[in-house]
Amino acid sequence: MAFSNPVSAQELTALARVDPGPSEITDGWFGGTTLRLQLSQGVPFRVFLLDNPARLVVDFREADWSGVKTSDLLAEPGNISDLRFGPFQPGWSRLVADLAQPMLPREIGMPVDSGSGQATLEISLKPVDPAEFSAAAGTPPDPAWTMALAAPPKPAKPKGEDRFLVVLDPGHGGVDPGAESDGVAEKDLMLAFANGLRDALVRDGIDVLMTRDSDMFVALETRVAIAHQAQGDLFISLHADILQQGGAKGATVYTLSDEASDTATEHLAARHNRSDIIAGADLTGSDDQVAGILLDLARQETEPRSVAAAKTLVAGMKGAGGPMNRRPLRMAGFSVLKSADIPSVLIEIGFLSSQRDLNNLRDPVWRAVMVAGIADAIKVWRDQDAALKPLIRQ
Ligand SMILES: [Zn+2]
Repeated sequence: MAFSNPVSAQELTALARVDPGPSEITDGWFGGTTLRLQLSQGVPFRVFLLDNPARLVVDFREADWSGVKTSDLLAEPGNISDLRFGPFQPGWSRLVADLAQPMLPREIGMPVDSGSGQATLEISLKPVDPAEFSAAAGTPPDPAWTMALAAPPKPAKPKGEDRFLVVLDPGHGGVDPGAESDGVAEKDLMLAFANGLRDALVRDGIDVLMTRDSDMFVALETRVAIAHQAQGDLFISLHADILQQGGAKGATVYTLSDEASDTATEHLAARHNRSDIIAGADLTGSDDQVAGILLDLARQETEPRSVAAAKTLVAGMKGAGGPMNRRPLRMAGFSVLKSADIPSVLIEIGFLSSQRDLNNLRDPVWRAVMVAGIADAIKVWRDQDAALKPLIRQ
């Protein structure tokens, strides 16, 4: 259910800035919690709840969160245990608050000061029992918002004999920053890296489609769907996560498998697969869209091609000087690799948990060398794979 949408989208004029100064989240004496957000002007917004885990989601039209830190709003974890915000889709941003206990909004308002024009979003929450919360939770069926949130994939050249389309998937984005270290966010590093790789591939006459080309959230399922609709020939998801297990460092290439190759990779896949939850996406009923026996059969044909692509990419990055992980080929159940018919790999270009890798990723010279290594490997794999095609068909 949607709790509020008091201003119509047509009244939209300009970008509202979130002012961290007077904004705050406070737990009251009697178990309630108040969220107060100061905006430079009123904007259309809506509030809803999601369950498993319990979250409060607020969507805004045209709100700019730059310069706002989580700690500006949430001094310490309380009834709201954690908080994220940022761009969600073009023209929209989102705040996702993790609730430590089930709470429902008791009052929601956005009074606008007639003198300054400033608006204050106020949401007061009160604890309820889990059943009451579950009954209230769910993405509101509101076509005006839903249509705006579902960004259609950009059209690509139609599939033909001479077309080779690489789908580049910069990890995370928008409300989901990915790993953060030393003031750097994985989502920004990966977009920069993907842009560089796209330019290198396009220079070589290879078609490229990006699952995102700005700081926006894209659901995992949408990333797979974009590749599928464009009939991509190769899908590459780009990451630089923090992985505490085993002091992870060095470039690593992952392919899809039901069984994880090792515990660290299992943890990594589990965290990646949570990124829709982090961004406040509603996964109810969206799960098994890629299940089914026919898809399994298609996957059996695609899997060796994915593994071959992964091996070629490892060789290419190694040739570019790496540094590579001590076990650079790994596998686990990454949701984003579940295209049945498109060879798909996930590259951890490095790990932000390693200072060496972080320094490399920030270095434009290192990035250019790595991009060249990956671009070369893509061309090698394309030719190898094309040569194998007649054999597969026999
Ligand atoms: Zn990542």
